[in-house]
Amino acid sequence: MKAAILSIGDELLAGSIVDSNAAWIGRSLTDLGCRPIAHRTVGDDREAIAAAAAHLAPDVDVLVCTGGLGPTADDLTRYAVADLVDAGVLIEDEAALDAVRTWCETRGLPASEARRLVAMRPPSARFLTNDCGTAPGMLTDLRGVQAWWLPGPPQEMRSMFNRHVAPEIRGSTGWPQPLEVLAAGLTEVQAADRLGDLLDQSRSPRLGIRVGGGLVRIAVRPTGSEEHQGTLAACAAAVRAALEPWALPAGAASLPEAVAAAACGERIAVAESCTAGGIAAALTSVAGSSDWFVGGWVTYADAMKVDVLGVPSDLLSPSGPGAVSSETAAAMASQARVRSDASLAAAVTGIAGPGGGTTSKPVGTVWLGLADAAGVRTRRIRVPGDRHRVRAGTTDATLQWIRWHLLGVEGALPWEWPTGD
Ligand code: ATP
Repeated sequence: MKAAILSIGDELLAGSIVDSNAAWIGRSLTDLGCRPIAHRTVGDDREAIAAAAAHLAPDVDVLVCTGGLGPTADDLTRYAVADLVDAGVLIEDEAALDAVRTWCETRGLPASEARRLVAMRPPSARFLTNDCGTAPGMLTDLRGVQAWWLPGPPQEMRSMFNRHVAPEIRGSTGWPQPLEVLAAGLTEVQAADRLGDLLDQSRSPRLGIRVGGGLVRIAVRPTGSEEHQGTLAACAAAVRAALEPWALPAGAASLPEAVAAAACGERIAVAESCTAGGIAAALTSVAGSSDWFVGGWVTYADAMKVDVLGVPSDLLSPSGPGAVSSETAAAMASQARVRSDASLAAAVTGIAGPGGGTTSKPVGTVWLGLADAAGVRTRRIRVPGDRHRVRAGTTDATLQWIRWHLLGVEGALPWEWPTGD
């Protein structure tokens, strides 16, 4: 199946926004077994939109267009579609109008003439519901070619593509859904070394490896319709096995979700210095975290570590080991566990930079502590990068260490936590 992409918007041509939609659609079409062969960008111009679609359609089976479906005066896509398929005629769609009225009512906004405009469609077009906004998308037939018209805002476009476009195309190509395996704590090269022959590009399913959001991401993609979902799942399981214990379990889309999968029956607490709540925020990003996360402390200043958490003051005195030390991390974790009656408490103290580093404790030096009923253990790691990366990497390292501890995995925490994207 061949596909073309049409991006619509003056902002795209002027370079005020980057066309991330086209990249995302191209990747999604490829994953569905479609071959994108052309991409065009046109401005908010009724004739140009119609001409571009008419020009692209004869060479492809599917045309995916994005942008210009909103209610403002510069949103001209619906008129161009009407010109293409129904001689410029637009009708009001009752169901879509009801949806607009309800949307306005629930927000206390008037259902103005402009808002009602999004309920207009060419008679032969099918509306596609928009789960994230008001403007519906459209499906039209351009002389036997499926033409999908999706909104510009990326979240709306993606949700509509996944809900309406992807199932339709998958039904035609028969390709199974690609899978992704995530790993935390390895560099891309280390992951590639462990995967070895699995990365051979002549294999099917075919693997793609990249780093994003602090994780190594291995895409497991079908190469043909003869593959089944089970083949992909088996390949993903082999990838996961090769990347143990760094790989996140199937079904976990993030490190916090991976912790949640291991945290059943636990009571987890945190004491944070350099991440200042980042670990607590990450853990509670998972729905249902109140079942196993009890709370924590942000003790940034030394006085807070002593007064609020009960870290012995001699650890922080000029003659003591200092705030960024094994002893302080251990005391923070132990105190957090006792004070919250948690089964497990994690603590972090480190130098996020850019200032504050010394020869013996350069920026990126972090001590982690983990306390449970059996005692407390600490690890020193280095987290490279700027302040943002040090804090994000420290959060990820702590989450992975908590997960490993819950699973009974020992010793895998690397000396340097990889943060490069
Ligand atoms: P709206 O109801 O928001 O007007 P629309 O379908 O008319 O939706 P546009 O007006 O074309 O969409 O774009 C709205 C916003 O969506 C743009 O300002 C931009 O932030 C984003 N956007 C549009 N097209 C793209 C694109 N191709 N890639 C990334 N972002 C885009």
